[in-house]
Amino acid sequence: MPEIVTDEVLWAAAATVPDPEMPPLTIADLGILRSVERRGDSVVVTITPTYSGCPAVDMIESGVIDAVVDAGVAVDRIRVERVLAPAWTTDWITDDGRRKLAESGISPPRTLADASGQPGSVSVTLSGRRRQPIGDISCPQCGSKTVTELSRFSSTACKSLYRCESCREPFDHVKEL
Ligand SMILES: [Zn+2]
Repeated sequence: MPEIVTDEVLWAAAATVPDPEMPPLTIADLGILRSVERRGDSVVVTITPTYSGCPAVDMIESGVIDAVVDAGVAVDRIRVERVLAPAWTTDWITDDGRRKLAESGISPPRTLADASGQPGSVSVTLSGRRRQPIGDISCPQCGSKTVTELSRFSSTACKSLYRCESCREPFDHVKEL
């Protein structure tokens, strides 16, 4: 591997890979990309997939490999590892990622707090953690908090469809996980 390929270059290359289910976000914006590190002659990219069983993972892996090849690493020196624990949560979406969502008219997921000891008001995630969204969902267009859920499922399973009662515009909200 040429010396010129620094760790920063490798990370930046992998970080450009778009998420197939949630454009315009990249896998770095979503927090799927965990690490890019050299081990001997190899580059090991670690990712934590989002929603379990997501068929997009294969697309993400080949996207990562292509990006690192473009950065100057031979394809047989690249390995992508999936790490499933700790499980991904929407809290890993970066501030940049939340901003990109809002700018494309999608309401970002609320942050989650551990909600132990508050039965009746908790959500149970796939990993069994009991966590509760903080704050209100607001319209990405006008910021109004007067919104109505129209459908639990929108264009993809990870979003629900809302309508703003102030500007009457429908919008997608990324579900908390
Ligand atoms: Zn609105």
